[in-house]
Amino acid sequence: MLIGILALQGDFERHEKRLKEIGVDSHRVKSCEDLNKCDGLILPGGETTTLWSLLQWNGLFQAIQEYEKPIFGTCAGMILLAKEIEGIQKETLNLIDLTVKRNAYGRQIHSFEAEGEAPFLGNGAGIRMVFIRAPKITRLGEGTESLATCKGEVVMSKNERILVSTFHPELTPDVRIHRYFVDEFVRINDK
Ligand code: GLN
Repeated sequence: MLIGILALQGDFERHEKRLKEIGVDSHRVKSCEDLNKCDGLILPGGETTTLWSLLQWNGLFQAIQEYEKPIFGTCAGMILLAKEIEGIQKETLNLIDLTVKRNAYGRQIHSFEAEGEAPFLGNGAGIRMVFIRAPKITRLGEGTESLATCKGEVVMSKNERILVSTFHPELTPDVRIHRYFVDEFVRINDK
């Protein structure tokens, strides 16, 4: 199994590290050829507008829209995957029916760490979450569900093939969320 990590900009090295810790090989995705080698894709955080332009420039935007394998988007990666971005008309990848709001915790709260609830991890699972100029999910649409919450907000969601989080699971040593993506999305899709 090989997981692609979009490596055009932003926080891809930590995703590589987390996957390595769970014994999963990763491949840096910079082109459509890279993408086609992979069994799943991680879209890391970064700056949505920069990522959007880079994806358009090398054809990956359309390739990801047509990619039929599982995708995990964190923060800016989630924003790109969502159907709708509040107040912005830009075309998104539109692979999960969510409305999101960028930088929704305000400029003052640039970044923070908090304890969230992720019941899908079992045993009343609390989990440390790191938010960096984080977006909020303001609407859960067709076929989506809430997986985790923090401070009253939905911070993680999924549909059949796409997993998203508003926080950065790659920035904490806890590998459970990466393992969940690999086991519940990539492995199952592989069968
Ligand atoms: N604030 C960024 C944006 O809207 C996302 C931040 C991140 O990915 N950590 O593009």
